Amino acid sequence: MNVTGKFKARLIAVLLLVVLIAGIRYLASGNAEASLSGERTFSFDSFTMGTLLSVKVRSTDKDQARRLADVAREEVARLHRVFDPKDPDSELSRLNGARGSAEPVALSEDMAAVLAAAMRVHTVSGGAFEPALGDVSRLWGFSEERRRDHPPDSAEISTLLGASCLSREIKISPDGRSVSLGACTGRLDLGAIVKGYAADRAVQVLRRAGARNALIDLGGEIGVLGVGSDGVSWRVGVQHPRKRDCHLGALSLHEGLSVATSGDYERFFIDSGVRYHHILDPLTGWPSRSGVVSVTVVTEYGLEADAMSTSAFILGPEKGFALLESEKCEGLMIYVGDSRTEDGKLLWKATSGFSRYLPQPDLEGLPLP
Ligand code: AMP
Ligand code: MG
Repeated sequence: MNVTGKFKARLIAVLLLVVLIAGIRYLASGNAEASLSGERTFSFDSFTMGTLLSVKVRSTDKDQARRLADVAREEVARLHRVFDPKDPDSELSRLNGARGSAEPVALSEDMAAVLAAAMRVHTVSGGAFEPALGDVSRLWGFSEERRRDHPPDSAEISTLLGASCLSREIKISPDGRSVSLGACTGRLDLGAIVKGYAADRAVQVLRRAGARNALIDLGGEIGVLGVGSDGVSWRVGVQHPRKRDCHLGALSLHEGLSVATSGDYERFFIDSGVRYHHILDPLTGWPSRSGVVSVTVVTEYGLEADAMSTSAFILGPEKGFALLESEKCEGLMIYVGDSRTEDGKLLWKATSGFSRYLPQPDLEGLPLP
């Protein structure tokens, strides 16, 4: 394939991914874009961390907006090099290579922050959030370019699970800067938390670089600075989990908030009428069958929003919801009453403070602008 051909193929892949995985979408109405201050929203899109990164910067000057967006994009690219599971030289791959040895391994600041948060969420979720499920998630292959259309052999899943003690032997040093991975630790897969962390970092570097009004959307993990085109908040639509061209309503997000969604419509295949998705139950190694279809979490840190949305999804409408409440995260959960039938009637519940961001979801669906 020539360079143009490759670029086109990549672009098509990116666009397909946007449709498939964007849990949340920035909503803008054309006329509102140029505000009284003369600022416009400039959007810069690129592909990284296996997903679409969209940086939106409000400015009167496109070149200035681009310079700011580049600062954010470089930060995400840097983190991609740390956490890329497909790059044998990434820190994550080197850590995975050190499994089986009791020797402590030094951690970068980024890895230390993400691993400590992942282990904390593992504990508070009663093990539902499992950062060492990588062997099993690799077998399912939802992050691979060539996707499966049938589930793996159940014996293969059981063998992988049986041979691993997952994260039980992971020991982080008291200062948090090194880890010893036990002899039977599973392959680390930080895919449920790292995008939220990267969105946090991107917001931080944007702020430091002087951006006032900006939004980072890394595959549906969103962080915001300042306000959007209406001068009040950033308006972000929550993807309808069963109607691709619809959203459930627009969240109003203000400075310092992050939002993440985990949904069974993001990466999945249907085989013999059954949906197999990418969020796995560590007890079985199979896609979680909690009845939850999507969870959207709003909180101060993207890292937390990302990990909590995944955890609440796996734990289900009762325990998952209780986890959101006990962790003081605001969340919206969409679920089916009968978890055996994935196309059953959709139901919802939200934590008491969620109505500040979205008073009531529209389960019929609102057309995307
Ligand atoms: P998210 O889309 O943030 O909910 O994260 C889903 C991704 O996290 C999957 O693609 C896997 O890489 C990984 N994952 C799957 N199941 C789990 C689990 N039980 N705990 C932690 N990470 C998981
Ligand atoms: Mg997550």
